Amino acid sequence: MGFMAKHSNESLVREIKGRLSITGLVETYVSLKRAGRGFVGLCPFHDDKNPSFHVNDDIGVFHCFGCGAGGDIIGFVMRYKNLSFKEAVSELANKADIKIENRPVPADRNSGRELSFKANALACEYYHEMLTQRAEGKGAKSYLEKRGFSDEIIREFRLGYAPQGWDKLDNFLRRRKFPLEIAEKNGLVIKRSNGEGYYDRFRNRIIFPIVDVDSKVVGFGGRVIDGEDSPKYINSPESGIYHKRSIFFGLDRSKDFIRRAEKAIIVEGYMDYLSLYAAGIRNAVATLGTSLTQEHSLLLRRYTDKVAVVFDGDESGKDASIRVLEAFLKIGISPSIVVLPQGHDPDSFITRSGADEFLSLVDNASSLMDFFIEKSLASLKEGALTRNRAIQGIIGMIGIMRDSIEKSHYIKKTAEMFGLREHELFSFMKNLTQSQIPEGSSLVEKPNSHEKMLLKIVLKFPELLQLLKDMDIVQFLADSEIKSVLREMLEREVIEVSALLVRFNNTATQEIVSEAIFSSNDVTDEPTARKMIEDCIRKIKLRKLEEKMRYLRVEIEQATNTRDDLREKQLIREYKECRELVEHEKSVRGVMHED
Ligand SMILES: [Zn+2]
Repeated sequence: MGFMAKHSNESLVREIKGRLSITGLVETYVSLKRAGRGFVGLCPFHDDKNPSFHVNDDIGVFHCFGCGAGGDIIGFVMRYKNLSFKEAVSELANKADIKIENRPVPADRNSGRELSFKANALACEYYHEMLTQRAEGKGAKSYLEKRGFSDEIIREFRLGYAPQGWDKLDNFLRRRKFPLEIAEKNGLVIKRSNGEGYYDRFRNRIIFPIVDVDSKVVGFGGRVIDGEDSPKYINSPESGIYHKRSIFFGLDRSKDFIRRAEKAIIVEGYMDYLSLYAAGIRNAVATLGTSLTQEHSLLLRRYTDKVAVVFDGDESGKDASIRVLEAFLKIGISPSIVVLPQGHDPDSFITRSGADEFLSLVDNASSLMDFFIEKSLASLKEGALTRNRAIQGIIGMIGIMRDSIEKSHYIKKTAEMFGLREHELFSFMKNLTQSQIPEGSSLVEKPNSHEKMLLKIVLKFPELLQLLKDMDIVQFLADSEIKSVLREMLEREVIEVSALLVRFNNTATQEIVSEAIFSSNDVTDEPTARKMIEDCIRKIKLRKLEEKMRYLRVEIEQATNTRDDLREKQLIREYKECRELVEHEKSVRGVMHED
C-alpha cells in the first residue's frame, strides 16, 4: 500500500513533467534568451548582474552558477513561491489540468509511518483530554494559565498532561487495542527491563505535541510542572517520523506569518515560542533540544531569507552562535542576533517590557557575524584564543559567505580590527588549509570536489556506473547527498535526470544534481571520462585512508598516555597498514600522471 502511494505520487510528477516544459513555466517569471541548446536569464534567486541562470528543456532542469540554486520544475516552483513539495505538485498539476482529488498525493512511504502517526495522534488526544477535561490535569492547567497560555492556545497547540502513574497511557492504548510495540518505537512507552510489558515515558508532565509542517504529530516534549522532578524537559527519542535535526516547533502555525513578515525569529525552546505566540508575535520557530542544523536552515529558507536568532542573556552564546552562523552563511543568509539582557529569556523579557519592546530589539538586532567577530576579539583579549586562531576562525566564516560585497566588507573590517593589510588577509585566506579551520567549523569544509566530479561524469556517461559498482566506492563518500543520488542510480538503475529528481525533492540534492549536469561540458568522451573516474576514486579512497591515519594517530597517543601497551601495538599495526595502502595508492597515481 505504501509503495502504491509513493508510486502514484511519482507517476503524478512524471505526468506533470510530460505536460509542462520547464522553460515554458520559468519564462512566465524570468525572461530567458536562447544560448546553445538551452536558455539563460537573470537569476530570480539572487542579485544577478550577468545572466547566470540556465534552463534546459532536454533534461528538464535549471541551475544558477551564481548562487547554486537548481533543480527540476517542481523544485523551481517550491523555491520561487516558497511552497512545500506537496503544495508545488498540486499547483503544477492544476496548471497542467490534471485532476488530483482522488489521487493519493501524500508521500508517505509505507504504512509503518501511518501507524506511527496514528500512535502519536491517539496519545495526543489522550493527553489533551487529561489536561482539559479531567481532575488530574488541574494543576498543570493552572500552571499554564499562570504562564499566560489561554484556553485558545491550549486548544490550538493541543497541549496536554501526562498523569502521574506508570501505566496510564499504556492502559489507554490497550483499551483502544493499539499495538504497543508501535507505541514503543515512537517512544511513548518503554519496555520494562524484565521484558514483561511496558511503562509510560511521560509521567506527571505537561505535554507539548511536536508536529511537522502538515500539522501531524511526530513526537512530544514533556515539561515538569514545577521544580519537583528532574530533568526539567524530556523529549521523544528520534524515530522513523521524528528527526529533531530537521524539525522546528511551531513552523506549521508560523510559516504563513513568516512569509508575510518576511522574517523568522528563532528561539531556543517551545516555552519561548509559546510565550511569543501568546504575546502576538507569530513569525517565530523553536529548535528542539538541539543546536541549529543545516537541515534547519534549509527548511527555513523556503519561507524567508531574513533570520533573527534570540539567545538568552546568559553565557550560552558563542558556540551556538558559530553553528548558527555557519548553517546560514552556507546557504547565503546572513542572520542577525538578539541578545537579551542578563538573566532574561523571551518570556521574562516580554513580561517585564512588553511585546513591542521585544520586537524593537528584533528590528534593531545586530549582525551575527559582527557578534562572532566581537566574541573572537574578546576571547583573544582574555587569552582564551591565539591571534592566529582568532583570525582563522573569522576567515573561515568569510570564506563561506556567498555575497561578494559582504565578503569584502568583512575582509576590510577584520583587517582593520586586527591591524592587518587586506592583502595580508587574502594570503592568510589562501594559506588556510582545511586542517587549520578550527574545530566546530565542520561545515566550513568545501563540498567534496572529487565526489561532485564522479556524479557529473556518471550523469553524462551512465554506462560508467559499473566502474563505481566494481570498485565499491559509494561507501567511501562523505557527502550524504551525492551518496544517496549515486545509490539510487546504482541500486535502482534510475539514470535519467528528470526521473532521478522525482525521487529527490529536497533542495540540497536538487542543487547538487543540477550543478553536476550543467558543469559537465568539460567531459567530452568516454575514454577520458573513464580515466577521470578512476582518478577520482583513487583520490576519494586516499582521502578516507588519510583521515583514518589522522584518527589513529590520536588514538595511539591516547593509548601511549594511558600505557595501554596491547592497544598501542594493535593501533600501530593498523596505522602501518594504512600507511602502506596510502603509499601504494600514491605510487599508482604517480604513474598515471606520467603518461
Ligand atoms: Zn542565482
